[in-house]
Amino acid sequence: MRFNNQDVPSDAQIISYKDGTIVVPDRPTIAYIEGDGIGPDLWKATKTVVEAAVAKTFGGKKKIDWYEIFAGEKAFKMFGSYLTDDSVEAIRNLKVAIKGPLTTPVGGGFRSVNVSLRQLLDLYACVRPVRWYKGVPSPVKEPQKLNVVIYRENTEDLYAGIEWKKDSPEAKKFIEIMKRDFNTNIRPDSGIGVKPISEFGSRRLIRMALKFAIENKRRSVTFMHKGNIMKYTEGAFKDYGYVETKENFAAQTITEADLGSNPRPKDKVLVNDRIADSMFQQVLLRPDEYDVIATPNLNGDYISDACAAQVGGLGMAPGANIGDNAAVFEATHGSAPKYANLDKANPCSLILSAKMMLDHLGWQAAGTLIENAIEKTIIQKTVTYDLARQMDGAKEIATSAFAKAIVDNM
Ligand code: NAD
Repeated sequence: MRFNNQDVPSDAQIISYKDGTIVVPDRPTIAYIEGDGIGPDLWKATKTVVEAAVAKTFGGKKKIDWYEIFAGEKAFKMFGSYLTDDSVEAIRNLKVAIKGPLTTPVGGGFRSVNVSLRQLLDLYACVRPVRWYKGVPSPVKEPQKLNVVIYRENTEDLYAGIEWKKDSPEAKKFIEIMKRDFNTNIRPDSGIGVKPISEFGSRRLIRMALKFAIENKRRSVTFMHKGNIMKYTEGAFKDYGYVETKENFAAQTITEADLGSNPRPKDKVLVNDRIADSMFQQVLLRPDEYDVIATPNLNGDYISDACAAQVGGLGMAPGANIGDNAAVFEATHGSAPKYANLDKANPCSLILSAKMMLDHLGWQAAGTLIENAIEKTIIQKTVTYDLARQMDGAKEIATSAFAKAIVDNM
């Protein structure tokens, strides 16, 4: 195999899928994209921490071989393209990748590389766990009460990119058809966006969320939707959720309607739904009542940032884009260009994304080691600038020093 003029070593061990389950060799080759802006600093820190955790956990029996692929500004400099076909093919072949944040070029015609990757590889679930780590400054009184995993649909909804500018021929034609064929008036100076939500797209996302909840003994799955207003898109998403639950997970789940006022049986995952706007109140007022949240694209974007803010903000927010044949792990934040190459930014989001990657590989023990070491380091109040400025008596340290402190605490 060879991508972007770089050989994958001939003895590389490649991850595969068998009957829908990932098969991971002891020395898998994993693709990485350094990223733009703060990306290279964060990636160096992440690599240091992951290698230490894997070595400490498996004592040489398991190891990761890294293979660099190119996207963003580095790819543009080398190949004149922000995302080469080869980079996409490399992830398709190697199955698992981790990426630093990428700057979206300003100016006409560029699609976000992040969005392109998700669509080209059909990474249909954006998974964002949000929990608080002891010592992290938070704007709420009891941040420890929030511990949710958000499953956001990644390919449909208003984010599918089907939209037309006001006065464009497409918008005008659309408005005309709506008047002529559907007797519906849309103001002539309107821009148009289309919100497709399919049964297929909804059910595969919801299936992944339910599976995760059952396998990880989580307490509940909540379908977050605005179905009281958008009945045939968001409302249908919720309905598909209950159909999926009934058809494929009846034995392991119980719906709120069936439960009534009884306590939840310990061996069953509670399934319920909530209207999107009320969900924003719920995560603030009753955070401990929620666990896994499955939701369409736009809601998922909003709720994951709102939840992240409760537990310390973007510097602590990991994420993954997962499909049936590939997965790309990435921090939720962007490339923060003003901190590029200053060895200053907080690497926790990318390190915690790597922890999700280790869980995905079935190497949970190494992931847990990382999580505990991060918490210990924050409790010791040796942290990067973003946390230090919000904590009394904290010592600000560089990204690289923070990574070293995490390793020392393993
Ligand atoms: P951003 O998330 O890059 O940064 C906003 C601010 O948040 C920064 O100025 C900084 O103060 C803070 N911040 C972010 N990450 C931090 C970290 N790890 N440690 C400490 N502080 C941190 O958002 P932006 O400035 O709107 O976007 C910059 C670029 O990143 C844009 O081109 C945008 O399109 C892109 N972006 C990429 C991704 C991605 O790759 N997944 C996601 C969001 C934005």
